[in-house]
Amino acid sequence: MRSFLPIPEQHPFPIQNLPYGIFSTPEKEPRVGVAIGDFVLDLAELEAANLLPGSDARSSSETSEVRCSRSGVFARRDLNAFIAQGEDNWREVRAALLYLLDEQTLALRSNDQLRRRALIPAQEVRLHLPVSIGDYTDFYSSKSHAANVGRIFRGENTALLPNWVYLPVAYHGRASSIVLSGTAIRRPCGQIKRATEAEPHFEASRELDFELEVGYFIGAENSLGVPVPIKGADQHLFGMVLVNDWSARDIQRWEYVPLGPFSAKNFGTSISPWVVTLAALGPFRTTAPVQDPAPLSYLRSDARTAYDIRLEVQLQTASMPAPAVVSRTNFKELYWTIGQQVAHHTVTGCNLRIGDLLASGTISGPGPAAYGSMLELTSGGKEPLRLPNGEKRCFLEDGDTVIFTGYAQGDNYRVGFGEVRGTILPAYTGG
Ligand code: MN
Repeated sequence: MRSFLPIPEQHPFPIQNLPYGIFSTPEKEPRVGVAIGDFVLDLAELEAANLLPGSDARSSSETSEVRCSRSGVFARRDLNAFIAQGEDNWREVRAALLYLLDEQTLALRSNDQLRRRALIPAQEVRLHLPVSIGDYTDFYSSKSHAANVGRIFRGENTALLPNWVYLPVAYHGRASSIVLSGTAIRRPCGQIKRATEAEPHFEASRELDFELEVGYFIGAENSLGVPVPIKGADQHLFGMVLVNDWSARDIQRWEYVPLGPFSAKNFGTSISPWVVTLAALGPFRTTAPVQDPAPLSYLRSDARTAYDIRLEVQLQTASMPAPAVVSRTNFKELYWTIGQQVAHHTVTGCNLRIGDLLASGTISGPGPAAYGSMLELTSGGKEPLRLPNGEKRCFLEDGDTVIFTGYAQGDNYRVGFGEVRGTILPAYTGG
């Protein structure tokens, strides 16, 4: 399948992808768009031109009170109303977009006026957070990452705590500080107690770090009190983004016992702007690693679905001319699957809502070239990374920029995520 727009083979946004986002232009307020090549397709314009499927919209979610007709779901500042319409509607809209963008069809291609209104060069738009996020949960589902962090924080003997192989560990994060790619991140201050000190002191974090993660937006709700069964649990998702769970390791080391991370991670979480749908990722389903011991029955499923998504971390310091790759890994490495995360999250009856964000936890592969955080890449700050221009880094310094990219590789095309990036600002000093 090809679009009438010229799109190179390595471009993240070919016709096979069609990720959703929110964009604005100088003359018009935020609305829903789809990234296609170097353009953004304005769905509010297509909707107004009656080129998207009829307005017989029904919500697939029994609990959702959002029951908008389709006219109106795209002239909005977030994707929530569209997501709430459910899987059948997502499929129909995707089919309509595939039809309109296909090189064989003329409805959009030969309508010069509409094309000029609806296809906007990507460099002319401003992107916004794609979803109004009610709640955010961050898992800890990469076995390599959990073992590496445990070794650094607690030593070899208690690297992996006993519960880790029985349940997908997570913490509840902050939705309020989730920011779009490109937003600068201010170095946090907090309580820090170094190994050589008897008592904590207050200062700016010296161990600021990134965490390479993938996040997923909930697309179907469950009622409070009603768990989502493991079978089909991953059908509760709408789509995915790249996530950087910025972390202050020195603050984390002192505060995390016994309730887990708190202020070490509540100062900023960055996400990529384009939501890649499960429909686009379907061809890249694969099988997750075998689990030993076998999990309890509510977490057991024959379909251990993983997604083959290649991930890369680049770091650019203020004095480097171009970013350097510091890690490459793959989303399919996760020990706990998305389905198991959803089943565990809801087994108590906890309700997930449209637009909630779940994230995978740092994705580290088996070797040092595949570690998803500075903590691991530098063995807890003991072995600095050597960058191509001769600089060294144990953790992030002011002015450093971290860039994550990711894509699934198809036959002569890529389903890409674009990027999530953030630059570190000096700590707040008042005024
Ligand atoms: Mn994390």
